[in-house]
Amino acid sequence: MIDTAQEYPVVTLRPREERRLRYGHTWVFSNEIASIAPQADPGAQVVVRASHGMPLGTGIYNPHSLIAVRVTSRGTEPLDREWFATRLRRALRLRETLYPGQRTYRLLHSEADGVPGVIVDRFEGVFTVQIAALGMEMRREMLYDALMEIEGVAGIVERNDHALRALEGLPSRVGIVRGTADPQIVTDGLLRYNVDPLGGQKTGFYLDQRENRLAMRRYMRDARVLDLFSNNGGFALHARHAGARDVIAVDSSAAAIAEIHTNSSLNNLSGIETRTADVFAELAALRSQHERFDVAIADPPPFARSKKNVAAARKKYVELFSGTLSVLAPGGTVFWATCSHHITRETFMEMIRESLARARRDGVILEERGAAPDHPVHPSMPETAYLHGAILSVE
Ligand code: SAH
Repeated sequence: MIDTAQEYPVVTLRPREERRLRYGHTWVFSNEIASIAPQADPGAQVVVRASHGMPLGTGIYNPHSLIAVRVTSRGTEPLDREWFATRLRRALRLRETLYPGQRTYRLLHSEADGVPGVIVDRFEGVFTVQIAALGMEMRREMLYDALMEIEGVAGIVERNDHALRALEGLPSRVGIVRGTADPQIVTDGLLRYNVDPLGGQKTGFYLDQRENRLAMRRYMRDARVLDLFSNNGGFALHARHAGARDVIAVDSSAAAIAEIHTNSSLNNLSGIETRTADVFAELAALRSQHERFDVAIADPPPFARSKKNVAAARKKYVELFSGTLSVLAPGGTVFWATCSHHITRETFMEMIRESLARARRDGVILEERGAAPDHPVHPSMPETAYLHGAILSVE
């Protein structure tokens, strides 16, 4: 079959709904569509036109999702193997600029790397893939073929067990799809971590906080550090390596805490005290014991899983952030973060003000932070800027 634009069904938008797309956004919501002719199959490539006929690009169609079309190009290129290979080459070139000589990074950050609904993380020889769009799911073998051509690859793992899949009507699936996927020793440039691409939380290792861990090092020398929601110890390990006097890491997952000990030995570090506990309970205990820290990190999981629970999540963030202040010595430093897609930068700033007010402390923002640059932000899609962080100095 010859894949030409003339053969693609045409999605025509309602009047004035082309504006967002013209400014680079790549989603068409189902209520913005006036007509589809001829009728398109789920996952099919379609052409998108404004109500007055102006072509806006091509994309993948899903009648069962609120995001009815995800635009894949402003032109009419077919979604073939070359399309995937071209985007992967571009993404790889960027990562090689960001992290020369390294092989651990987010290789594809969905829309921001031009491949809607697809996330690929690289852990040395193993790629982990998450797909959240039906049209990409149907074409995944082409993506895998293109990934297997990258130098140094041993295998590919699907981590398709996240909630977004259900929104696109996709099944949950985790496992090796190509080659082998042994645990890897990865590096962030300074420290080494053991990552099991098949186990672990999310994709096994939180790549997005990479540069925030480095940014925190300058505040950690000789400090007493509290790392809340430590996972496998990213911040805690950097604290010790940067010369922190004392480090306590807290996480509710025993598996994550066990990884901290593995990673400590990998880096010849010692002296990280770990506590397998709920952070809120641990904070209350530390407060009642009058414990004080020079640096506190609070990097929780997303509290707002949907727009509906933003208000409840906000309260929880403020409770957490102000809780860290209750164990922070005067003149101390905090790093607070939220990775909820539904918490905007403005809301995060409000939460910072509220947390300081609640604790009756004065603080100033030294650095506003986001995800590492291998998680690019699409300027027209605030959805891609999901991580907000701030380093504060607090009196
Ligand atoms: N700071 C980490 C990433 C944190 S991810 C890093 O730099 O890599 C969030 C972590 O919070 C997960 O490891 C999860 O096990 C833990 N967690 C979730 N809810 C928790 C709770 N109530 N108390 C303690 N840990 C919790």
